[in-house]
Amino acid sequence: MEIKKILLPYDFSEPAHRALLEAKEYLQANPKSELYVLHVAVGAENEYLMNLDDDPLGTLPVFTRADIQEIKQREIDKRMTALHNKIDAELDELENPVHIELMFATATAEKIVKYATKIDCDLIIMGARGLGALRGLLGSVSYGVLRSAPMPVLVVK
Ligand code: ATP
Ligand code: MG
Repeated sequence: MEIKKILLPYDFSEPAHRALLEAKEYLQANPKSELYVLHVAVGAENEYLMNLDDDPLGTLPVFTRADIQEIKQREIDKRMTALHNKIDAELDELENPVHIELMFATATAEKIVKYATKIDCDLIIMGARGLGALRGLLGSVSYGVLRSAPMPVLVVK
């Protein structure tokens, strides 16, 4: 099987980072292979709403469309910078093309599989667990991707 395109779903967790190291090894051995990194931003709006508790006037928030666009853009910038810091630092010396993608969604596994199908990747490399606190072998995202992805999935423990 020739693996030209690898998709790495990345959530900033330790297992996802181990998946990145696994992908790196493959990329080193195959300089023409490409890496696609996808981060799905989940619940960004909740994070913002929590910060409203610090509002000293206790005023009810009224958001205009422009406010919401600004909040979203700030979230995109923050996460994109964090992604580049992690991924670029690790893959610095590699020649392989690397694409970093950020998407907003609630159904994370579905979004990952949809994207994997769109870019027509040959392999998905992901962590078995992520940022969730529950124990067990697989998290809900890795389980969902394993169940419905049409291409091979390498799950890193
Ligand atoms: P749960 O989310 O069900 O509480 P968990 O967080 O321990 O469990 P998962 O979320 O399934 O485990 O994470 C497994 C792997 O899925 C991660 O290592 C990462 O590769 C990928 N993943 C999880 N969440 C995201 C996300 N938001 N964007 C991109 N990839 C993700
Ligand atoms: Mg998770």
